Amino acid sequence: DAIAPNDIEKLNVLGHGNGGTVYKVRHKRTNAIYALKVVHSDSDPITRRQIRREMDILRQTDSPHVVQCHGFFEKPSGDVSIVMEYMDLGTLDTLLKNNGTFSEPKLASVARQVLNGLSYLHAHQIMHRDIKPSNLLVNSNMEIKIGDFGVSKIMRRTLDACNSYVGTCAYMSPERFDPESYGGNYDGYAGDIWSLGVTLFELYVGYFPLLPSGQRPDWATLMCSICFGDPPSLPEGASAEFRSFIESCLKKESSERWSAAQLLTHPFLKG
Ligand code: ATP
Ligand code: MG
Repeated sequence: DAIAPNDIEKLNVLGHGNGGTVYKVRHKRTNAIYALKVVHSDSDPITRRQIRREMDILRQTDSPHVVQCHGFFEKPSGDVSIVMEYMDLGTLDTLLKNNGTFSEPKLASVARQVLNGLSYLHAHQIMHRDIKPSNLLVNSNMEIKIGDFGVSKIMRRTLDACNSYVGTCAYMSPERFDPESYGGNYDGYAGDIWSLGVTLFELYVGYFPLLPSGQRPDWATLMCSICFGDPPSLPEGASAEFRSFIESCLKKESSERWSAAQLLTHPFLKG
């Protein structure tokens, strides 16, 4: 059954994004719990465009590692909302803040699940373009699902404008800043792999790894570090398999970076 707006009751706010609010909601008849993302009618045109794009993508995806959607509404007032499965542990970002850094076996499980999601998306010509800890959702079965498709892109029709500036620049690959120098052809699929590499690195060490200080400074410093610096390398204690896996994600040359399907065969994920 499709879920109608009158069937649900708002319980509390789960998070605020750039323009929308995500609520925890209860389905009155069944008591089932969902997450509801709402973008209000008075929000800016960019935010409204983003939620429509997210709706478009979630309508056509069906993967155990992409957040599942149970309905969409648009109210006469102009509010647009998406009913999603509720992920009760929040995001990898909150897990890192609350429980500390992740062990290698945990990261192998995270990597395997996110790569399953990414290989599904990439096979359907969808690039996410904003992979980062706060967009990876977790539930108490330790299932990880990719969420937040606000800046994603479906590549099926046109190849144009895919290197327009979208997403959080901190996790962006070198070729997003400077397509000419890195692989010539901008490849958004490889960009998702770079972002996954940065994300796994951060979950292992507990700080953003592309700057020595671990701080997030201005855009220009970050861009210089990503484009002109060497990719970061893991601290001493990391295993050879994990090191090799991260290196395969963080190749600066996008054409040398492994694809999601290739990474799923990497020895780091065998354990
Ligand atoms: P941002 O700009 O911070 O990336 P956004 O507007 O794009 O945010 P989301 O990332 O989709 O919105 O969601 C914002 C927050 O709401 C998330 O960080 C998370 O804490 C919470 N959230 C989103 N979807 C779910 C869900 N399905 N289950 C549980 N919590 C969720
Ligand atoms: Mg988000």
